Amino acid sequence: MTVLVAKDVTPESVVLRYDWTVEQVRELLERPLMDLLWQAQLVHRAANPGYRVQLASLLSVKTGGCQEDCAYCPQSMHNSSDNQGQPELVFQVQTVLEHARAAKEAGADRFCMGWAWREIRDGTQFEAMLAMVSGVREMGLEACVTAGMLTDEQASQLADAGLTSYNHNLDTSPEYYEQIITTRTYHDRLETLQRVRSAGISLCCGGIIGMGESIEDRSSLLCVLANINPHPESVPINALVAVEGTPLEDLSTVDPLEMVRMVATARILMPRSRVRLSAGREQLGREAQILCLQAGADSIFYGDRLLTTSNPHVEADRELLAQAGVQVSCEATEE
Ligand code: SF4
Repeated sequence: MTVLVAKDVTPESVVLRYDWTVEQVRELLERPLMDLLWQAQLVHRAANPGYRVQLASLLSVKTGGCQEDCAYCPQSMHNSSDNQGQPELVFQVQTVLEHARAAKEAGADRFCMGWAWREIRDGTQFEAMLAMVSGVREMGLEACVTAGMLTDEQASQLADAGLTSYNHNLDTSPEYYEQIITTRTYHDRLETLQRVRSAGISLCCGGIIGMGESIEDRSSLLCVLANINPHPESVPINALVAVEGTPLEDLSTVDPLEMVRMVATARILMPRSRVRLSAGREQLGREAQILCLQAGADSIFYGDRLLTTSNPHVEADRELLAQAGVQVSCEATEE
């Protein structure tokens, strides 16, 4: 395995690989923490000089009533937590764009929109989605959509509307997947990712820890992600937020250092991807978040709410980033 030492830290020294084995990933994930952090920092400083963090803002456009049975999700109609009573913005293009403008004014440079759907529906709702994407792009923000499975035609229309990135998480390992979701397969997931890629849209694809999976499962998930060629441009790392009314409601909060390990390993495996600290950040505490930034997390969701769970306050985030001495990347770069 290639190991960088300090004198080698240059952008040219970064090695991109797509042939990782689960054993190699597990060896990284279980390394003594100081060694893992050191290697992750070397890779991060070489691949992404300057410790810049992207602020992404997330809005739920269509909340709840989803046909899928994801065990962690309060929006699934299979779970008693289903929160479909919340107002929907599916036709409210201007309202969504007002949220995007406010996010931009608060410092975000990426605006992510979520639809709790099994798959994208054609018709007026899709037309509204396309208008939202174009409107967000016209503001100079990156636009990301998460809305389930899609067809080649829908992917192509989203690309034409200017969509920067499509989020579709693998969630967990292929081996553990059926314990978490039964209404679609891992293969369905990978096919959707391929459709997105073929349309020329960036991939935002990551997973969740703390759902009862083993270290082997975490290694296997990271291995699948790291062997996608090219790597997903954005890799969200989530910790389960156990919500009452979901099958995972009784699971305890993940150890913050487990998140640090996931972030560091993802950084080493996918040197140039944006590693996004996502759900569960509120439970991490300030010091663990700073360790995640040091280990190579270079994007955070910013704002008071994620899709259905709360997120640290904007002011607390600004203070945290200032204390860590990282810069916010404000230029809306194509990923
Ligand atoms: S995670 Fe997404 S696909 Fe799964 S139930 Fe929730 S909204 Fe539906």
